[in-house]
Amino acid sequence: MSRHLVADIGGTQIRAALFDSETTTPLLIKKTTTIGDNSALDRLCDLMGEIWKNDRTIESIGVAAAGPTDPYQGIVIAAPNIPGWVNVPLREYISQRFDVPVYVGNDANLAALGEWKFGAGKGHHHLIYMTISTGIGGGVISDDRLILGQFGIAAEMGHVTVIPDGPICPCGQLGHLEALSSGTAIAQYVQDGLNNGVKSQLINREPVTAKIIAEAARSGDRLARDAFDRAGKYLGLMIANYLHLFNPSIIILGGGVVQSGELLLRPTRDSIEANVLSPKYLENLTISKSALGDEAGLLGALVLASANLP
Ligand SMILES: [Zn+2]
Repeated sequence: MSRHLVADIGGTQIRAALFDSETTTPLLIKKTTTIGDNSALDRLCDLMGEIWKNDRTIESIGVAAAGPTDPYQGIVIAAPNIPGWVNVPLREYISQRFDVPVYVGNDANLAALGEWKFGAGKGHHHLIYMTISTGIGGGVISDDRLILGQFGIAAEMGHVTVIPDGPICPCGQLGHLEALSSGTAIAQYVQDGLNNGVKSQLINREPVTAKIIAEAARSGDRLARDAFDRAGKYLGLMIANYLHLFNPSIIILGGGVVQSGELLLRPTRDSIEANVLSPKYLENLTISKSALGDEAGLLGALVLASANLP
């Protein structure tokens, strides 16, 4: 058993925690906001420092960062929700303050690793993890190895083109899956419908969110149901493509939008079945909700820190 300090940094929140390897309950956990009086980097290091001062047996540090991240160089290439975070040398900065090995990775990639080691993917050797929330991210494990690519920025599963001239994605490209099946995209679809005069009980509920739309869909609102059906249709289409590429034994879906349950999952399953090349891809395939929820990234950072992966 060894002891590790792990952290995750997102657009709104930074968390840092102390874990024994092979365990999923933190010995100590601390949180702060990402934006504050000092820089996000200093806020992250200060929070980690609060845990560090309590424990001198920490062997390594693992950090999950939102946005494309080069785990070999330890650089966050771009964090869309943290102002000014472009090519941030995260590992180097942390290493100057803490004299143990530091490992960093993309939070969705690390969430895949967390689910594989501790969560819904335990015992699986071929796994796809997708998080469906404000945006869409993911990670792929094949033959028990996280697929990273030459710069560690592979498996951007939300930024694949579904409709070449489709709605604009936050990344600037058109018709990406994130622009069609994320929580933001579901809300946008409803907003566009309302603006075009489609009848809906959501007319006086603006601004609409995926959660409010889910409530309306459950009470039979047509526009709200259409929004989830459309999101599930394209999500299932891309999952069918991912089945063809990676032939996994489990698809794990995390993120807030998955809390809408069958509203999203039924059209997703229907679309997977309609688009799959051969029923063989569906044999022995589990489609599961995330078991670790918001902890997946943090626990993935623990796997990274304790296994000394790249
Ligand atoms: Zn995109």
